[in-house]
Amino acid sequence: MDCIFCKIAAGEIPSNKVFEDDQVLAFYDLDPQAPVHFLVIPKEHISGADQITAENSGVVAHIFEVIAKVTAELGLTGGFRVVTNCGEDGGQTVGHLHFHVLGRRSLAWPPG
Ligand code: AMP
Ligand code: ZN
Repeated sequence: MDCIFCKIAAGEIPSNKVFEDDQVLAFYDLDPQAPVHFLVIPKEHISGADQITAENSGVVAHIFEVIAKVTAELGLTGGFRVVTNCGEDGGQTVGHLHFHVLGRRSLAWPPG
């Protein structure tokens, strides 16, 4: 499968890593939308938030544990935002589940 985030997870494409374990990888976004902007992905290929099931949702819980840990380590005490874009209307451009974590600036709500 030709999936850029699977290749990043496998180390075939380099990334600026924030955190890694056997289940997940967190790395800085190439096109940051905030002073801190990283992505957290499952190493297992899940194409998007519409493909989360009872069988694979454990890694999603783990991703949120990693987000709490990494944002604390980065000192994002003012808060942060977690976003997953899904499908065309959601603005998803990479078909491998990923959670954007944005911080260190005040973020508007609702998003555009
Ligand atoms: P989305 O549009 O929600 O699917 O988000 C995809 C994100 O992946 C975008 O914010 C891109 O800037 C980011 N991105 C694409 N390729 C890479 C890469 N090789 N390394 C880091 N971030 C990437
Ligand atoms: Zn993939």
